[in-house]
Amino acid sequence: MNTIRHPATVAVHAGNAPDEGTGAVAPPLHLSTTFRHGPAGERVAGYEYQREGNPTNDRLRESLAALEGGQTACTFASGMAAMTTLLDCLPNGARVLFPDDCYSGLRMLFQEFLPERGIIAEVVDMADLEAVRAACTTPVAMLWIETPSNPLMKVSDIPGLADIGHAAGAVVVVDNTFATPLLQRPLALGADIVMHSTTKYFGGHSDVLGGALVFAKDDELAHKVAHRLHVTGAVLSPFNAWLTLRGCRSLGARMAMHCANARKIVDFLAAHPAIERVNWPGLASHPGHDIAARQMREFGAMLSIEVRGGREATLAMAGKLRVFTNATSLGGCESLIEHRASVEGPNPRSPQNLLRISIGLEHADDLIADLAQALDGTD
Ligand SMILES: *Cc1c(COP(=O)(O)O)cnc(C)c1O
Repeated sequence: MNTIRHPATVAVHAGNAPDEGTGAVAPPLHLSTTFRHGPAGERVAGYEYQREGNPTNDRLRESLAALEGGQTACTFASGMAAMTTLLDCLPNGARVLFPDDCYSGLRMLFQEFLPERGIIAEVVDMADLEAVRAACTTPVAMLWIETPSNPLMKVSDIPGLADIGHAAGAVVVVDNTFATPLLQRPLALGADIVMHSTTKYFGGHSDVLGGALVFAKDDELAHKVAHRLHVTGAVLSPFNAWLTLRGCRSLGARMAMHCANARKIVDFLAAHPAIERVNWPGLASHPGHDIAARQMREFGAMLSIEVRGGREATLAMAGKLRVFTNATSLGGCESLIEHRASVEGPNPRSPQNLLRISIGLEHADDLIADLAQALDGTD
């Protein structure tokens, strides 16, 4: 495979070699929970019990590791299971730095659950290297980056943060869900671990939950996480691994179209008088644009907008959309829009006029026409 230079090719082939036994080109789905062994427990083909590993899952692990350029990967029942299992490997009393703008599930973990077991969770603006440097004057066990971030689309400098984090003794983790390895490869930029909710772009069709961690090195921490996963059991089912692996094969093509669509929609929205602000790192006016241009191949298909006229105007606009669906989540074929403040619980962090948008694979003209009729009643 050493002639392969493009991630889109890796996405099609890694973990997808034809089946040795049958020559089947599409990967087989192995549902068996148990595998025959010798009388003294000798493994026949390397497998023992589904929770400890199975051939379909191993194909997906191989694909994820190859795409992110890591030595090994673990898959989980969900993105949250991946995060939780990793954070559970930290010792009591460990100090962890989390981003101020991030996925709400991560925020719930570090506000509600981590303090219960003695983890010191501190929130920093990861887009501000000086602030992170100041927070790193005392030792840090883990530094968590999410870039671009949910839902404000803040951009963090991965190489800069990796240097600062490593100097403070931290393991540097990047949630790469929004970008995918097709657009951004954090391990090559200095991070130690990449986390994914494969529920989003990897699955790609809004029909399969999953999570992953990819490790730059097959080191002690990678082994500790794999052991904890196998014992505590938040494993990905083989069927979900198989669907996600199927998603990998079209990831390159889908990301290219998601990104091309996003650029056209952003151009429309940024010029529209009813829109106060568009948060998308591809805009030259975005504060993180230069960093994003350095560390991303393209700027992705996630964005948020702030609508003129406050909460009522914003909800009215979202309610008029016909091609976009009002729903949470992202990365599927269909474009989704969500009023984050309505779903963030009693103390929402998002502005009341903010809508988060996942640009799908519909024709851009139809998406723009839908936004136009919702914003100004022209159809
Ligand atoms: C969805 C998401 C998660 C959580 O993943 P689940 O698969 O829903 O458990 C974590 N981080 C980001 C950025 C997400 O979008």
